[in-house]
Amino acid sequence: MLDHVHALLSSQSAFRVGLLCALILLVIGVIDQLTGNEIALAFFYLIPVGIAAWYLSPRAAFLMALAAAIVWLLVDHTSGQSYSHPAIAFWNALVRLSFFALTVYLTSIIRKLLETQTALAQMDSLTGLHNARSFGQESVSVFDISRRHGHSTALGYIDIDGFKGVNDLFGHSAGDEILKAVGCTLTKRLRVSDLGARLGGDEFAILLPETSMLGARSFFKDLHTALVNLAGSNNWPIGFSVGVAVFPVPPLNPDEAIRLADDLMYKVKRSERNSVLFSEFDAGAENNVKTGARSDLFFER
Ligand code: GH3
Ligand code: MG
Repeated sequence: MLDHVHALLSSQSAFRVGLLCALILLVIGVIDQLTGNEIALAFFYLIPVGIAAWYLSPRAAFLMALAAAIVWLLVDHTSGQSYSHPAIAFWNALVRLSFFALTVYLTSIIRKLLETQTALAQMDSLTGLHNARSFGQESVSVFDISRRHGHSTALGYIDIDGFKGVNDLFGHSAGDEILKAVGCTLTKRLRVSDLGARLGGDEFAILLPETSMLGARSFFKDLHTALVNLAGSNNWPIGFSVGVAVFPVPPLNPDEAIRLADDLMYKVKRSERNSVLFSEFDAGAENNVKTGARSDLFFER
């Protein structure tokens, strides 16, 4: 239930959420007015303030906190609440405002922490690319959208050749520097809609939506050249074996798509290494079945 409410609120514009908060506050104010002083409704004032704090900017949330304190003050005043001194009503309003403001402040801190932790959990800490889990999750929606629009999708699987040797020769931290530089080269070439990931160790994946065989050839040939140049200019004794699977109709199962691209990469490893192998796949009902007619298999150097 709460998950549904959260999904609904997250998908709304700030204006709509603000309007909803104002409406809830108004309803609470009217109920408070009608029920009089005997029944405590303090908790309910927190609902619009809490919603604003989670889904709106801190400034908008503080405005909502102020509005809640003012509505409460007006209800107190119009419902005939009397105090021994008129200033007490304003003192109480100030205390409530502080309470709401603290709620906004703490909620926004929790939200920021959650956002940071979520981003970190999806990220490979060394390269800043997606990690394997996040890549798997994100690729599901990329393939879904591509299938809906009938767009071709390309998936590249990259493994560094001879990476263990670099670790042995120059040390683990030099290996880390190479992984970072490779990640940086990948990131520079990605469009906003593309997905790049370090799947683990020296293995990377790139998913290009709306990309046909022609586009994939151009992108991965350029990328391979850039990676080889990166290694050459630093005298790193490594190469890059790349398998690229192109799906005119995106597959139903992203894991299967990754496996197909991985298989292509291993074909490169078993043959000449440090090159790119492309292949086009048809999507079967459950599995991707490579069809001889559509398959376009060749190496690029
Ligand atoms: P191949 O040419 O067949 O691809 O072999 P390789 O030497 O590149 O080694 P392989 O791909 O089989 O294994 C990757 C190695 O990467 C294994 C591990 O020692 C090393 N490795 C895994 N994660 C890290 C990391 O985070 N940092 C560093 N520096 N090395 C890592
Ligand atoms: Mg390797």
